Amino acid sequence: MSIDLLNNAQTAAEIHQEARQWLRTWIKPGLKLFDIAESLEAKVKELANYDEKEPWKAGLAFPTGLSVNSCAAHWTPSFRSNELLKQSDLCKIDFGVHVNGTIIDSAFTVAFDPIYDEFLKIGKEATYTGIKMAGPDQILGEIGEEIQEFIESHEIEIHNKIYPLKSIGELSGHQIDQWQIHSGKAVPNIKIDYNERMLPGEFYAIETFPSTGSGKVRHGLDTSHYMINYYNDLNIKDLPKKERKLFDKIFLERNTLAFCKRWFQREKDEIPDKFFRKLVSKKFIKSYPPLYDTGNGLVVQFEHTLYITEDGKMVLSDC
Ligand code: MN
Ligand code: MN
Repeated sequence: MSIDLLNNAQTAAEIHQEARQWLRTWIKPGLKLFDIAESLEAKVKELANYDEKEPWKAGLAFPTGLSVNSCAAHWTPSFRSNELLKQSDLCKIDFGVHVNGTIIDSAFTVAFDPIYDEFLKIGKEATYTGIKMAGPDQILGEIGEEIQEFIESHEIEIHNKIYPLKSIGELSGHQIDQWQIHSGKAVPNIKIDYNERMLPGEFYAIETFPSTGSGKVRHGLDTSHYMINYYNDLNIKDLPKKERKLFDKIFLERNTLAFCKRWFQREKDEIPDKFFRKLVSKKFIKSYPPLYDTGNGLVVQFEHTLYITEDGKMVLSDC
């Protein structure tokens, strides 16, 4: 394990912390989700000294998730979206910072109505239930069992109605490698038979998703998140010229880090959505559609990135 990776992760974690503390000073209902995402992303780039001539050095690890209410993950505004953040919203803000491909993935949920205070507290504690267990030799399946037990032993009251909480099992924490947000092992959020262990030198994101709904998710149609297929051994020459140009542009800017259409559609000759669809159908990139609770439940999320040491862990993003 190189010391460099850990140093880079710590630098990325400090940038993440500064950016989210700054965001909390001004985020409020009535703002456009588009403006929130773009402002936060500009701040991260500024703090990371992002250089368009050397885009792989440091910057955004993936698009800013602004998943609202029953959307659990993977929603970011499109270039033309006009949606506003509302007073009654629960908004999961999930953003990532990388330094030389070493990624910090961390998320929190904001709400403006105090009716959700208890729900947010349970969400935070659910993630810390997992974080507390993390360490060398920890069996990952056991973490899922504890997280589920914690979440599902709670219920919350909203407008005089009681909702039992469910842990969304189709979403999980994950190991992180350099340039790979989801690598190797998972950190489940439900009890499953999974005997893989955490090992020293590994990075993990632990993230939990308590829901007032079904705890099951469905894909939405408005896909915004994509990533170059790591395992792609396809021939770039099989692509039509325009799609090849887009693929080259994406790779030069992002390597194998996630991206969204918005980042590539701001120029005068706007790249049509069908070009992205073509790259997906040819398996050069993978799409990650937004995920919604099937029971229309409200979902909260908290997430931190950890480093496993010989005798414990470092919670990098909680610096
Ligand atoms: Mn995340
Ligand atoms: Mn994650």
